[in-house]
Amino acid sequence: MAIDLDAGTRAELEERLRFYRDLGLTDFYRRPVDEALMAKLTAPAVAPQAAPPAPVAAIAPEVAAPVAASSDAPPLDAYGLEHQENNVGEEDDIRTRKPIFEAPATGDLIPAARREAALKALRKEIGDCTRCPLHEGRNKLVFGDGDANARLMFVGEGPGADEDAQGLPFVGRAGQLLNNMITAMGLARDEVYIANVVKCRPPSNRVPAPEEATTCAPFLFRQIDVVRPEVLVALGATAATYLLGQRQPLAGLRGRVHAFRETKLIVTYHPAYLLRDPRQKRAAWEDLQIAMHELGLKLPAKK
Ligand code: URA
Repeated sequence: MAIDLDAGTRAELEERLRFYRDLGLTDFYRRPVDEALMAKLTAPAVAPQAAPPAPVAAIAPEVAAPVAASSDAPPLDAYGLEHQENNVGEEDDIRTRKPIFEAPATGDLIPAARREAALKALRKEIGDCTRCPLHEGRNKLVFGDGDANARLMFVGEGPGADEDAQGLPFVGRAGQLLNNMITAMGLARDEVYIANVVKCRPPSNRVPAPEEATTCAPFLFRQIDVVRPEVLVALGATAATYLLGQRQPLAGLRGRVHAFRETKLIVTYHPAYLLRDPRQKRAAWEDLQIAMHELGLKLPAKK
């Protein structure tokens, strides 16, 4: 039965699906229809404009009961972000997928002194992009930000509302956590380069559709070719998917170094996912320490 969901419920569901996607969960089966739940979902909203998004509990009660965050706090907790509660755990048991994206050939090495200009030229080439439907809802295109000669580059999924408003990547809550992650590594944000798989905000922050991601990803690859970081960190499943060219469970990709074109690739959790499930911050910190090791960075002294 097709249901017409109200905007709040739809947004909540989309966020939940994005969360599962970050975990590497992409296949779902349908349970027998729960009539009481259906009645709840299909009931007309009393005041649609003013109504807050439906609580997750109304949609998926089995995942809504909070679990206390670990008392064994990982290092990222020391940087000012409070724990949020969420009881969805990691799940490794997912099939490996077929290749879904073929990366363009690696571009020529650009001398360090010309990289900034090369990025500007690339930005100009993208222009007022209408290559995929995401441009329709865009406020500002989010090209990328940071040091054109960075040794470390982060790749996210796509702009959210804050990024769309400001035209800069990772400036919202997830960006605040990413900043903290960078600080924890002993670096400043302007020492790294940050870009996304797609440069325009997907509606309701949904996961970019394959056509959108594969249209935009070649520009990301060219950014990577220009910056030529020594280490690339894929933040979340979407970045990992399009960098590696195939969908695989994130849990199986993280925790090690992948050979990636001219650079080393480390896959870790997306900061937005870490905000939802802070228990994974420890694993993310382990991944970042692998990146630090590859870059020859020392752990900041314990306070
Ligand atoms: N999430 C992303 O993947 N990228 C951003 O720029 C912001 C949030």
